[in-house]
Amino acid sequence: PVRTRFAPSPTGFLHLGGARTALYSWAYARHFGGTFVLRIEDTDVERSTPEAVQAIIDGMQWLGLDHDEGPFYQMQRMDRYREVIGQMLAAGTAYHCYSTPEEVEAMRERFRAAGEKPRYDGTWRPEEGKTLPAIPEGRKPVVRFKNPLDGDVTWNDVVKGPITISNKELDDLVIARTDGTPTYNFCVAVDDWDMRITHVLRGDDHVNNTPRQINILRAIGAPLPEYGHLPMILGSDGQKLSKRHGAVSVMEYPAQGFLPEAMLNYLARLGWSHGDDEVFSMAQFCEWFNLEHLTASAAQFNNEKLAWLNNHWIKQADNARLAGLAKPRMLEAGAQFDGAPELSTVLALFKERANTVNELADAAMLFYRQPQPDAALMTQHFTDAVKPALAQFAERIATVEWTKEAIAAMIKEVLAANGLKMPQIAMPLRLIVTGQLQTPAIDAVLQLFGRDTVAARLAKYL
Ligand code: GLU
Repeated sequence: PVRTRFAPSPTGFLHLGGARTALYSWAYARHFGGTFVLRIEDTDVERSTPEAVQAIIDGMQWLGLDHDEGPFYQMQRMDRYREVIGQMLAAGTAYHCYSTPEEVEAMRERFRAAGEKPRYDGTWRPEEGKTLPAIPEGRKPVVRFKNPLDGDVTWNDVVKGPITISNKELDDLVIARTDGTPTYNFCVAVDDWDMRITHVLRGDDHVNNTPRQINILRAIGAPLPEYGHLPMILGSDGQKLSKRHGAVSVMEYPAQGFLPEAMLNYLARLGWSHGDDEVFSMAQFCEWFNLEHLTASAAQFNNEKLAWLNNHWIKQADNARLAGLAKPRMLEAGAQFDGAPELSTVLALFKERANTVNELADAAMLFYRQPQPDAALMTQHFTDAVKPALAQFAERIATVEWTKEAIAAMIKEVLAANGLKMPQIAMPLRLIVTGQLQTPAIDAVLQLFGRDTVAARLAKYL
């Protein structure tokens, strides 16, 4: 059975790269009816915060990336790591090293001076027939992993293809510090083993950790998962994605009025393809997603494409849901909902053009505030030439059937009777009823405001 995991370090917010990793791991598990595990890698106590854990959980919840197991916290698994370290010491796959940090630095310096890769020189590494130095009194050891001296570590990366690292490149990694706390690569290996992870998808900043983790997994007798290292997400200028390209935190997107289905759709395509398909639901994605069409080259984040997808998903979205999302922002802007047209109906009028829910909310405001037409615009559009026509229009409001079609027909009749063109009556009507010149079609707007509101607003000027 497929078992995948998302293993963020809670040191900040959930960023776009992390969200994409989570999405692919989740979709792969869903594709095979497998299990998706959430694991919080919080052993860096200096940088890990509960707020960051919450931010990750909030981000995944917003995206709908539900996990089947976890969240597991590495800090709560210390006993288990100590147990495995004990077993490795007993089995001889790890050893105590009493070299001080200064001594290790001196070793590294010696290799560097000789033009070699700086590394630990194996002073305390037990070997057949080798006598180890006497243990300095009172000195606490670290535990080092006994990395194979020869041969290669090879894996067939599901994104990058075959990767081979020589064991000569890897020195004996510290797996427990002098105070007994386990180190990063060791914890990851033990976790992936215990959580029976079959596929590890993560950012390619972890490629260098993989051979170390593979060696540890082999030493503890664990099966190896498949590994796939996803390339970075770059900004539109080809540089590493950062704040100056826009929001990097996933949770800034709902605040800006993006729908999760747009973000998911966008992230799904950013590093994976299915022919020419650009627009698809997550159900569809889970059905399609396999590891065959992951892109090995870095992807560039494109705000316009995300906005285009957001517009698509806004058009698909249920109006009542959009109303719920738009309402808080509108209330903050002073919207008066009492006696005003139903918000979900109003939003339907603006959906076609809105790239974000915030744009939708701002556009809809014209139905929920008192119009304050600009005086200069009124002078320009509410001329003596159009006043009689508007008066006739106002008179007929009480009797016309209050449908878009009937309102449009009635406006046409008034125009014809007065020898006017559409904008000559539509502009002052818009100004008086909504306070602005830009609105959706006038007949639709008037119909939504309702007979009484339109009559009352016109009465103020006639
Ligand atoms: N905790 C790591 C990170 O946040 C991910 C480790 C992994 O996926 O193996 O980058």
